[in-house]
This record gives sequence, C-alpha cells and structure tokens, in this order.
Amino acid sequence: METGNGTGTGAGASGAGAAEIGVIGGSGFYSFLDDVTEIMVNTPYGPPSDSLFLGDVAGRRVAFLPRHGRAHHLAPHRINYRANLWALRSVGVRQVLGPCAVGGLRPAFGPGTLLVPDQLVDRTKSRAQSYFDGEPLPDGQVPHIVHVGFADPYCPTGRRVALAAARGRNWEPVDGGTLVVIEGPRFSTRAESQWHAAQGWSVVGMTGHPEAVLARELGLCYASMALVTDLDAGTESGAGVSHEEVLKVFGENVGRLREVLFDAVAALPDGAERDCGCGDALKGWDLGITLP
Ligand SMILES: [Zn+2]
Repeated sequence: METGNGTGTGAGASGAGAAEIGVIGGSGFYSFLDDVTEIMVNTPYGPPSDSLFLGDVAGRRVAFLPRHGRAHHLAPHRINYRANLWALRSVGVRQVLGPCAVGGLRPAFGPGTLLVPDQLVDRTKSRAQSYFDGEPLPDGQVPHIVHVGFADPYCPTGRRVALAAARGRNWEPVDGGTLVVIEGPRFSTRAESQWHAAQGWSVVGMTGHPEAVLARELGLCYASMALVTDLDAGTESGAGVSHEEVLKVFGENVGRLREVLFDAVAALPDGAERDCGCGDALKGWDLGITLP
C-alpha cells in the first residue's frame, strides 16, 4: 500500500516515475553503466548529497545516489539524510538498498565479510532523524508528530534478496547482526569499541542511520549490505583503524559488491507487489504533509 501521492512538495516533478529502486552508495556502483542520466532534485529539506544518477540494471530502473557526494566531500554527520530519502521517493523509488563500509566487532567478522544486518543501534548525536517534527515546510505544510514502528528496522524482503544474491555469487554472507551507527567522523576509541562488542553488536558504521528510519518514515523498503573493511579498535591489538586500510579493502571488494548489489536489484519484487509491510508504516497517521 502506498503511503502518499500527489505532486509532492518542491521535488523535481520531471523525475516522477523515473526510478523504482534506489541505491545509496559510492560512484563505483554506477559509473560504468552504459546509459546514465543525471538529474538534480531539490527537496523541502534542501539538496541531497548529489544529483541522482538514473540507469537500467537488469531491466529495472535504478536511481543511484552517492551518499557522500561524488567528490566524497560530505562527512557522515554532514549528509542531508532527509533530503536523500525524500529525493529518491520523489522520483518514484519505493525500495532502497544501502550498501556501506563498516568495522567488524568480532574477530570472525574480518575484512571482506559481507553482513546483512537485521538490527540497528543508534549512537549518532546531531542528525535530523524525522520528517515529522512539527517544523513547517517551505510551502507552509506543517508535519504532524508521527511515531513509526522501528522494532525491525530493515525490510525483510530486501534482506532476503540481498542474502540470496550474495550466496549466488559464492560470497557467503552473515545473515543478521546488529549494526551500531556512531556519529563519526572519527573512529571509535578502544574502550568504545570494546563496549560495542561486549553488547553483542556485530559491526560499526557511520552512515546506516538515520538513513534507515527516514526510509521507514517515507514508507520505503530499506535494507543494508555492510562490507567489513577492518576490525574495529577493540577487536585487535594493533593501532586501530586507518582510513587507508578502509579504502584498500573497499577497493578490493567493490567489484563483487556491485555484482551482488545488481543481482539483488534484479531480484527485488515489483514495487506494486510489495507485501513486506514497509509501505504501511504510516498507516492510520494523519501526516499533515503530502509525501512526494
Ligand atoms: Zn519492505
């Protein structure tokens, strides 16, 4: 069930219906596609991280959005997450895949591990986490206060499809686990990392939230695919994480992550046939605003 309709509020009308699936990740995922159309979308929350890059993957129309901007100029806490999800929805996206780089919190989750989390812990501090905060939009609409269910933060269909896609490429994924999202941009202290591990959490990242809850607030399906690029500070005796290490491991794995991602895109159900419940997240609420 769709959760909103109409012409939207400041979103790029020309893009409506342009894509059905959104991928939030680096430019490594779309830059080699044959035919990519770049469109700029504005939102009531300001511009997203970058243009949307529209392309075809296995016959599915996909909108790619570089989370940090194409020049990687946005730190995790500076990303306009509300604008990013709003922009995707405004071009027709109803299902989102959010690959991200993470640190492993257990020795078993070493570099190159692909984990599809089923839980999330929010340790961010400064990020706008809701569309429904009572603050008027530029067009005068005033969002009401809405409390969405978030007990299970990820779309079960998206998770299932991502896991199957990884297995299909002989990359046995970790099925489930908790992604703790820290504010960054610094890495964790050793004590923080040991504490995260002691809670039983699996991996640590900086961008998986509020991306997940904002997708839920827009009735979008959202699943994460977490690529472990390093063992976090508390799980090794060395000097801790370095940015070079993260980039190196990500570079080594981006090709097969792209293969898995594209297989997952191809296997996602038609948006009109979603039966996962994500589209019903706002059912029964009087939103006060029209979603794009
Ligand atoms: Zn869903």
